[in-house]
Parts: sequence; C-alpha cells; structure tokens
Amino acid sequence: MDIVQLHDKRFEVFIDKATIANKVVALAKQIDADYKGLNPLFLGILNGSFIFAADLFRHISTPAEISFIKLASYRGTTSTGNIVTAIGLEENIAGRHIVIVEDIVDTGRTLHSFLPQVLQQQPASVQIACFLSKPEARVCEVVPRYMCFEIQDTFVVGYGLDYDGQGRNLPHLYRLCD
Ligand code: 5GP
Repeated sequence: MDIVQLHDKRFEVFIDKATIANKVVALAKQIDADYKGLNPLFLGILNGSFIFAADLFRHISTPAEISFIKLASYRGTTSTGNIVTAIGLEENIAGRHIVIVEDIVDTGRTLHSFLPQVLQQQPASVQIACFLSKPEARVCEVVPRYMCFEIQDTFVVGYGLDYDGQGRNLPHLYRLCD
C-alpha cells in the first residue's frame, strides 16, 4: 500500500517500517546505555506515542518503568496550541530519571506547557525521546535528547500518528500527497 486514503486526504509512504524498526532499536540501545542502573521512568504521551513507546520500551534491557499521560493540542492537520490534559501524571516522580516519550515534536507547545508540571515535582533528570521532530515548525524551544528522524514541516500519519482518528495502525510512516 504505497498510497492510502484517510477521510478526504491521500498519503504516500515516507519512511518504511524496516527503516523505522532499525532506528527504534538503535535509539533504544543508546538510551539503555545512558540509563543503565538508573531505573528510568518512561512517560509516554498518548495517544500518538503508544506504538513508538511500546517498540522502544521492549528494547530497553536495564530495569525501567513506563507510564502514560494524555495531552493533546492537535485537531485535523494543524496544531491548535490548546493543550488539554485528559489523563494526568499518577506516579511520584521526585528523584526519578524521566524519559518523556513523544510521537512528534512539532511547534513544541505541547511539551513546553507540560515540562513545568514535571519539573515542579523535582525529578532527578528529564529528557525527551521522540520518534519525529519538525525543527522548522518550532514555536517554543524544546530540544529532544533522543530522536529517530528529523523531518520537514509536512503532515504525517502512521506508526501511531493519526489524521482525525484514522491511520494510527498503518505500519509505515506516510506523508500528505501534494
Ligand atoms: P506540538 O505541540 O509540538 O505542536 O505538537 C505535538 C503533537 O501534535 C504531537 O504529539 C502530535 O500528536 C501532533 N502532531 C504534530 N505534527 C503532526 C503530524 O505531522 N501528524 C500528526 N498525525 N500529528 C502531528
């Protein structure tokens, strides 16, 4: 399936699933080495990160924990900047090494508004691991420590990312056709 139709839009394969899988394993190895013996707590941001977080986490071999929170700023194909917290942070994160797992850092607004909540609880450290980053679209300064791919400012779906609810189950990453 090189071209898929979701609602009113067509998408083409952008990054295939084998390339994604290799990159995720390599990133997990890097994180694993950096956090050896630190019992990191991975915090996945729902919904978009659920596939990336699962694939990444299963390749972490040092003892680690994972939890999820739900934030959202996207409606359709543009970021609204209105961050909604639907499921909050339940863990006590004071003194913990936190790895925030995000699907994509776009404008940076989502993480920029969420990070103070995390820092307020005095974790030992906080870093961001994202599947994708769109540096050209950045409005707020957010610097992911770990990243699979840097992409241009184009709308993508698949591998957990949706277009109005559809496309999260697509195995590859797709981008909007011209
Ligand atoms: P930000 O707050 O950094 O602008 O946006 C973060 C959220 O917007 C991401 O977690 C993701 O859910 C959504 N998002 C940003 N760019 C895209 C995109 O190209 N495709 C999809 N499906 N979601 C995106």
